[in-house]
Amino acid sequence: MRTDNYAGHDYYLLDEWLTEEHKLIRDTARAWVKKEVSPIIEDAAENCAFPKHLLPGLGEIGAFGPYIPEEYGGAGLDQISYGLIMQELERCDSGLRSTASVQSSLVMYPIWKYGSEEQKQKYLPKLATGEWMGCFGLTEPDHGSNPGGMTTNFKEDGDDVILNGAKMWISNAPFAQVAVVWAKNEAGRIKGIIVERGMEGFTTPTMKGKWSLRASDTGELIFDNVRVPKANILPGRDGLGAPLSCLDSARYGIAWGAIGAALDCYDVALKYAKERQQFDRPIGGFQLQQKKLAEMITEITKAQLLTYRLGTLRNEGRATSAQISMAKRNNVETALNVAREARQMLGGMGITGEYPIMRHMMNLESVVTYEGTHDIHLLITGLDVTGLNAFT
Ligand SMILES: Cc1cc2nc3c(=O)[nH]c(=O)nc-3n(C[C@H](O)[C@H](O)[C@H](O)COP(=O)(O)OP(=O)(O)OC[C@H]3O[C@@H](n4cnc5c(N)ncnc54)[C@H](O)[C@@H]3O)c2cc1C
Repeated sequence: MRTDNYAGHDYYLLDEWLTEEHKLIRDTARAWVKKEVSPIIEDAAENCAFPKHLLPGLGEIGAFGPYIPEEYGGAGLDQISYGLIMQELERCDSGLRSTASVQSSLVMYPIWKYGSEEQKQKYLPKLATGEWMGCFGLTEPDHGSNPGGMTTNFKEDGDDVILNGAKMWISNAPFAQVAVVWAKNEAGRIKGIIVERGMEGFTTPTMKGKWSLRASDTGELIFDNVRVPKANILPGRDGLGAPLSCLDSARYGIAWGAIGAALDCYDVALKYAKERQQFDRPIGGFQLQQKKLAEMITEITKAQLLTYRLGTLRNEGRATSAQISMAKRNNVETALNVAREARQMLGGMGITGEYPIMRHMMNLESVVTYEGTHDIHLLITGLDVTGLNAFT
């Protein structure tokens, strides 16, 4: 088992922009990851088994709802803190970060923003500790990039609604107690509904055969005439803008997280290049390998700067969805490129589980697709700068 000696890379001295609290939060998350997750993550990925015993620990380091107010069990932290935690988690594994992102931004966030007071009191404290886990059902088998076309629907029946349809590719679905599901009412308006495990007609089959995010559980949500109390509908907002606002929060976390994966690949490649000898000298002394390392740290530094600025804009409530799209798209692409270059630098060793690079690379193939594909984020930027819609 490889010893996790990661100590961070801060080429532009960005730590000087962090508060002591930010650094403490980051260092706490890093220490927990090194102790609890690094030793088991390769096995978890190889065996395609999400390590559920980590959930209380994730709650303790504040990874579930870091910015949710303390009165609802959250940590009441700012957006930079949220980003730093996501970065530390994804430095270890994108699946680990996905579990925390979904819980925070796609389950707790909509309940906090659009839920009734009763819903907030009932769900948020348990979600914050990891006692209950949640999932977010937006994507359907025939509606991925175009979620507005969804066919999952509900009809009113007295004090309840009857929910029918299916969601696909849902992170955390196989073990979640709670699902925030987006469905259309009889007027065709999209609403968020909290569905609980155990409701009759609700099943969550696991999706198998993934070569990516293997340490994160993914499943379907099937609704066969599921009777859900009307009190479980999120009252605060409807329409496609509601789930999209949750995606803004999650995509912001991904922008930070992807830097974590890139930093880990760079860290491993840098150390390897200084140690590995070929032609009687370290491969790090060859110009071709230095080009790779120099470009990696340059792109990582640019991504760090972009993301820090985005975090300050979010703290001020000024970040636009398009700005978040740009950062998600750029940083995931950067991480993928860094992973691919780092993989080559390790030669044959790069494809083994002795090093984390191949796992990061495979994970990032999901990250570049979910929460809006690489293409879709480009179209969002294109629309933003031209005012012309190229989606349809
Ligand atoms: C591991 C994993 C976990 C996920 N977790 C969740 C989750 O928790 N909850 C959830 O709701 N969803 C989740 N998703 C679903 C994810 O968000 C979708 O896969 C994603 O939105 C893309 O949808 P799709 O797979 O149907 O691809 P499609 O929408 O079918 O896209 C296929 C290709 O066509 C391109 N394309 C589509 N439309 C256009 C266009 N207008 N112009 C140009 N190109 C276009 C896309 O960029 C893509 O390359 C997850 C996915 C994965 C892989």
